[in-house]
Amino acid sequence: MQNKSLKVVVVGGGTSGWMSAALLKKVLGDSIELELVESEQIGIVGVGEATIPPIQQVNQVLGIDEAEFMRETKATIKLAIKFEHWQNLNQDYFHTFGSAGKSLPFCHYHHLWVRAHQLGLDDNLWDHDLNYHACVAEKFAKLQVKDPLFDMKYAYHFDSGLYGQFLRKVSEKMGVKRTEGFIESIQLNPQTGHVESLTLKDSSVVNGDLFIDCSGFKGLLINQKLGSGFEDWSHWLPCDSAIAVPTERFEKTLPYTRSIAREFGWQWQIPLQHRNGNGLVYSSRYVSDETAKETLLSNLTTPTLAEPKLIKFKTGRALKQWNKNVVAVGLASGFLEPLESTSIYLVQSAIVRLLKFFPQTEISPASVDEYNRQSKLEYEQIRDFIILHYYVTQRTDSQFWLDMQKMQVPERLANKIKIFEATGTITHDEFDVFWEPSWLQVMLGQGIKPKAYHPLANQFSEQQLTELMRTMKQNKQAPVNNMPDHDNFLAMYLSKG
Ligand SMILES: Cc1cc2nc3c(=O)[nH]c(=O)nc-3n(C[C@H](O)[C@H](O)[C@H](O)COP(=O)(O)OP(=O)(O)OC[C@H]3O[C@@H](n4cnc5c(N)ncnc54)[C@H](O)[C@@H]3O)c2cc1C
Repeated sequence: MQNKSLKVVVVGGGTSGWMSAALLKKVLGDSIELELVESEQIGIVGVGEATIPPIQQVNQVLGIDEAEFMRETKATIKLAIKFEHWQNLNQDYFHTFGSAGKSLPFCHYHHLWVRAHQLGLDDNLWDHDLNYHACVAEKFAKLQVKDPLFDMKYAYHFDSGLYGQFLRKVSEKMGVKRTEGFIESIQLNPQTGHVESLTLKDSSVVNGDLFIDCSGFKGLLINQKLGSGFEDWSHWLPCDSAIAVPTERFEKTLPYTRSIAREFGWQWQIPLQHRNGNGLVYSSRYVSDETAKETLLSNLTTPTLAEPKLIKFKTGRALKQWNKNVVAVGLASGFLEPLESTSIYLVQSAIVRLLKFFPQTEISPASVDEYNRQSKLEYEQIRDFIILHYYVTQRTDSQFWLDMQKMQVPERLANKIKIFEATGTITHDEFDVFWEPSWLQVMLGQGIKPKAYHPLANQFSEQQLTELMRTMKQNKQAPVNNMPDHDNFLAMYLSKG
């Protein structure tokens, strides 16, 4: 690769294809020529409607107007996921994007709360979290305050098909060329083994220097052509199937995703402006597709708008997410079930990482190794966070949940749980997108109680702790009183010119 404009070919026009195209073109501009090949005949997976807050950085980099984006993708606000029946059948908790209280220089706020809780001075950590109060009140506002105490982090729910189309428009405006066509064969350079070109059904040929494989689960280039290998994680995460179905919208739009644990998996409910997205993720080792479909259909609260769609998947990752001149992004790079809405984030993160190591003159093997090392770690951290939800369940009502508690979890996760139980401390690992507040909410929410807390918490008298807990709860709750309902917010915000 010399100084000529580098030709990047994106294979696939799903969320990952168009997000990759838009971000690469925006950052690299005229230094690359970018062509995206997709086949309408094959189509896209058509799910993936809940996100996490880093998606706002994608919008910022692309210079996207938030109201326009929300209008075009039928988006709603997401402040949290409500996990229902995960610990046991009578218990729910929220994993919010917020955090409880306000931390001290050496010590996270939750240590003070743990001490207060052990002394019987406070019983609900979530009362100290602004996002939680807004979720319960079903309200939202964009708070224009600088105090981090009132930082209300949020993400979006959106229509996945519309999101792809939106990013396509953004990309094409910047000069990305779209080629409609079914890729029939892939040609390799006999000396280097690098991909040189794609041949489409109409016999046209697309040449490239760097290929971004966004072809979905099959991994057309990374897997089928280059045979990069796959690390199977289904012994930790046995769900391998999903049934998805859209339904009519609720009268009121919740500002959070619902994740409802069922006998052999879990059901999602994602509120959009024009409809709800629903689905059931399950393990075919424990239930037939037919029973799973009946379970989903009997647990819907509004009428269906289409036939349920069955999706099969394998949990794990491509062993080399960057192999030769192919970088796998999205479902082609691996899959972790959507329990924490992380797949679209992994697309974003892959492109951000690729940009850091972008081959401006030639592909450096050291950069490829480092890219692969970081991607592996990032996938593993999210994998462990998802396993946590299953492992620390106390449900005994089905073989599925009993087996989840007996599994031998990855060592890093086992240690994380042990350290939290012993000291109240949550260790943060490199490249983990989830910080202490996230791990804390899932561990506490599913019944893990730390025995101890940071020694700094002992510097507060009982009276001081009582006062701190009281004022913190009051402060965190106060802004919600002046917020509009989520639906009112949407109506006002989306009507802006
Ligand atoms: C049940 C389920 C629920 C999910 N929920 C969430 C969620 O809530 N949040 C989240 O972040 N993620 C979620 N995901 C993941 C999310 O859907 C994907 O990460 C996202 O849609 C990106 O998919 P993709 O673009 O990689 O693949 P796809 O959408 O499958 O796109 C593949 C593209 O490759 C093209 N293609 C393939 N073969 C060829 C060929 N031979 N010739 C030409 N073109 C070809 C296709 O035409 C298509 O354009 C979910 C996934 C599943 C399975």
